Amino acid sequence: MKKTVMQMAVATMLLTACGTSKKEAVPTDDFNYTVEQFADLQILRYKVKDFDKLTLKQKELVYYLSQAALEGRDILFDQNGKYNLIIRQMLETVYTDYQGDRTDSNFVNMEVYLKRVWFSNGIHHHYAADKFVPGFTPEFFKAALQSVDQKKLPLAEGETLDQLCEEVFPVIFNPEIMKKRVNQADGEDLILTSASNYYEGVTQAEAEKFYNSMKNPNDTMPVMFGMNSRLVKENGKIFEKVWKVDGLYGKAIEKIIYWLKKAEGVAENDQQKAVINKLVEFYTTGDLKTFDDYAILWVKDQDSKVDFVNGFTESYGDPLGLKASWESIVNFKDEEATQRAATLSANAQWFEDNSPVDKRFKKETVKGVSAKVITAAILGGDLYPSTAIGINLPNSNWIRSGHGSKSVTIANLTDAYNKAAHGNGFNEEFVYSDTERALLDKYGDLTGDLHTDLHECLGHGSGQLLPGVDQDALRAYGSTIEEARADLFGLYYLPDAKMVELGLTPDAEAYKGEYYSYMMNGLMTQLVRIEPGNNVEEAHMRNRQLIARWAFENGKAENVVEMVKKDGKTYVKINDYEKLRGLFGKLLAEIQRIKSEGDFNAARNLVETYAVKVDPELHKEVLARYEKLHLAPYKGFVNPVYELVTDKDGNITDVTVSYNEGYAEQMLRYSKEYANLPYRNE
Ligand code: ZN
Repeated sequence: MKKTVMQMAVATMLLTACGTSKKEAVPTDDFNYTVEQFADLQILRYKVKDFDKLTLKQKELVYYLSQAALEGRDILFDQNGKYNLIIRQMLETVYTDYQGDRTDSNFVNMEVYLKRVWFSNGIHHHYAADKFVPGFTPEFFKAALQSVDQKKLPLAEGETLDQLCEEVFPVIFNPEIMKKRVNQADGEDLILTSASNYYEGVTQAEAEKFYNSMKNPNDTMPVMFGMNSRLVKENGKIFEKVWKVDGLYGKAIEKIIYWLKKAEGVAENDQQKAVINKLVEFYTTGDLKTFDDYAILWVKDQDSKVDFVNGFTESYGDPLGLKASWESIVNFKDEEATQRAATLSANAQWFEDNSPVDKRFKKETVKGVSAKVITAAILGGDLYPSTAIGINLPNSNWIRSGHGSKSVTIANLTDAYNKAAHGNGFNEEFVYSDTERALLDKYGDLTGDLHTDLHECLGHGSGQLLPGVDQDALRAYGSTIEEARADLFGLYYLPDAKMVELGLTPDAEAYKGEYYSYMMNGLMTQLVRIEPGNNVEEAHMRNRQLIARWAFENGKAENVVEMVKKDGKTYVKINDYEKLRGLFGKLLAEIQRIKSEGDFNAARNLVETYAVKVDPELHKEVLARYEKLHLAPYKGFVNPVYELVTDKDGNITDVTVSYNEGYAEQMLRYSKEYANLPYRNE
């Protein structure tokens, strides 16, 4: 499972992750976090914090695993659609070799199309799964293809360019063909109507029958049937083409194994060695029992500094949820941030004892949750360029319950999102004055992350139900109330002297950054994610509006928070931060009471009064102001570049990391250096 950040353009959005605090709140470095923007996408760059502090052996390990992470790129392209590798090659050849007018709108639009194909690892939108609409004509493309060196085109044996175009152009230009990568529409044959390349010639009914017959209801340790194969029907026979060394995708898997073996040679300890070794065995045999053995070894590897995911992992791309797309991430532990999450957890009892809620609703003994925080070193396959900020694996249920799972938060990616949002115009547009903007610049990232830590590590775990209260008593309002409870726990404690004492905030002013952004978001700016005319639906958004509106209304008599107009625009202005903390404490006590007593009517009343309704005038204004900023709703990353340094005898003396590669440059290099599969994989 992965946690993703949608619409990171909303600078104040909270991340659902634990332990992402970072020390420096201000982007003091001159690192360039933004690369470029096109269509609905923004390309960013992330920094591999503390790579230089790894030992030489660990650096080597990262290097080899990074290579293994990039070698599988073509697998994902082919999984996402059977023409993707062919189309990518046609586009890239025209992009690099075309001698005609490169400023012509056909060429410019083809360039955007190619950049989107790179981003999505195919011709369908990475998130919406709809096929892209090309902004260039078939006539232009055909002529361009005729003008380049034919040897570079993905022609099959004996195939002419005319035949290739006849085969592939409908896939690019006809909106009715391969319309959706993954179709989830109830009532249709989900396999026949999905363009992803996990099934060939079989219907949904045939596929379901095939896999249902494999299931044994008495098996308490079932393998994940079908996860590493394409299901095909040939000559009336249905069978699996397994992804393994001597099977489908074998050429790419061979390369992956080559680097994994190198990594095994510099592994940090025997446990990690065993993990890598088992993964190689799985790639070699394709045996799913071996995969489970590998997953168990991987979960048990808790002590290594460097860790990785490499393989067939998530099944979001298969409408039946069986087939796993290939992905990889290499990472190492962020000791500092992990320590901060641990600090909160270690003090969990103090926070519980000192919270403003009624004694009857507090836990006698409370245990905080501490999560591992990691630094991503490379992203590959289905985690590149669009990625997750948190990962929780493995996916096998019996392994999770019997052996546990690893839940990690990727701090340097969150950090890059935050830093890239600085100066994107959002705060300039929506923040009341320079005073608040200075607070946000100085403390915003730090206290935002710390609030998330408090929410995840302590907030959800605090408090208790009274005996006999049904945990589902709040029904449809349950998740909004629960999120509000966790948020309020964090908001209440941010200004506490304990925060400074534990070294989590630099001074007694820091909390104001989060207070301002929280109120602005809850009262106003989160509305940019809602279509005109709609109410607030999603639980996290409801909870934020609930808290912000409640504090606003209930502080009115003392003018704690104001909505003011300046040059016809609405702004949030906080007049008394201390009183605002008092209001948060009061609401926390009430929300905990509602939860502990299972007071359904009070929950409904709070949510319906404060959390759901949208002021249509304000909504319209906010959308119009947001629109003018031209922010891209989706983000992705280019990777850093690692290089081995050797002495005159060929011994490795160092591994360097650099960040100078551009987006197209990186994609073209990957297409060349990691071109591991034939254009047609059958
Ligand atoms: Zn939560």
